[in-house]
Amino acid sequence: MKDFEAARVRLAGESPTVSLNARGIAMKEQGIDILSFAAGEPDFDTPEAVKEAGIQAIRDNMTHYTSAAGILPLRRRIARKLREENGIEADENWIIVTPGAKVALYQALMAFLEPGDECMILTPAYPSYRSIILLAGAACVPVPLQIENGFRVTPDMLGSKVTGRTKMLIVCSPCHPTGHVLTKEEIDVIAAFAEAHEILVVSDEIYEKLIYDGRTHYSLGAIPALRDKVITLNGLSKSAAMTGWRIGYSAACPALTRSMNKLQTNIVNCTASFTQQASITAFDCAEETEAMRRIYLRRRDLICDGLNAIPGVFCPRAEGAFYAFFKVDYRGMDDRQLAEHILEKAGILLVPGSGFGEGGEGCLRMSFAASTESLETALKRLKTLLQA
Ligand code: PMP
Repeated sequence: MKDFEAARVRLAGESPTVSLNARGIAMKEQGIDILSFAAGEPDFDTPEAVKEAGIQAIRDNMTHYTSAAGILPLRRRIARKLREENGIEADENWIIVTPGAKVALYQALMAFLEPGDECMILTPAYPSYRSIILLAGAACVPVPLQIENGFRVTPDMLGSKVTGRTKMLIVCSPCHPTGHVLTKEEIDVIAAFAEAHEILVVSDEIYEKLIYDGRTHYSLGAIPALRDKVITLNGLSKSAAMTGWRIGYSAACPALTRSMNKLQTNIVNCTASFTQQASITAFDCAEETEAMRRIYLRRRDLICDGLNAIPGVFCPRAEGAFYAFFKVDYRGMDDRQLAEHILEKAGILLVPGSGFGEGGEGCLRMSFAASTESLETALKRLKTLLQA
């Protein structure tokens, strides 16, 4: 058949989980007991109050288009959250409610990147950053971080990658997949860099609420010098276990927001009306979020202790998010061979680290958004396999 695919789609590539996932599904269909830790979503259910609010919104016929940026009470509630919790001086004109943070990400990159531009990302990184940068026709410039020094960001690393064409830097904290939470010092380094080079910063804060060991989350958008240069991305998928509701948002100064809203009107028109209405309730579910965080924390310790007890495995304790990102030294295998070997021999689906870009080679990603029982079984199987 003639190949109709546009060149930019070819450039965007496939997610690192796709081919291995397909293999895992095929094995499952053959009746093989496969445990998957490849998904990036909470295993908890949405809080009851949010579900009720969603049902009520449908009964109240909140089933029509809304304004493109989203319903006013939700945009106001998001702006209040950003002022109170993040120190970002936003109001409703700063907010676009999107069907998931991913759409906010897409719009932020598409609105400001074009051929000839460079966009820096800190790797290992969420694979969609690279894909969307390429879809926008821009060049993706990785800044590789090292597992050995806790994925820390230094001024030299950023300085060595900047050129006259650098237009944007994407930052994710707590980081998917490394779990690194940027310290105040690192935030200051990034802010000084962005200010000096006059670049836009996309700050992905979707894992903000999943943070451990008393660490603090800092928002780049709170830094006065960056007020009109930061696009903050967030949403309810992780904090309120609402992946399927598709609620995310961007927060940026009105000039940047207007550009992104032009895309929103042409892509989705608006986010689903009743999920927007229900989401207002989710901003008052701090107790539920905290209960989930405590469970993730226990699982993190279980997984990190268990993995570190296996010879050849180095698993830093995730500072945030819900992934163990660990290095494995086993029979000279690279991470893709290793992920395949673990799937074939132990029936465990993990994601190879090189799919997250430079710095991820030799690593595997294991989500601990999974039952304690399945994590314990996986640890036993991994121990048996990797010790042999
Ligand atoms: N950013 C990061 C770093 C993520 O891991 C994800 C989801 N896996 C998203 C954004 C998108 O989340 P959603 O579209 O569900 O809001």
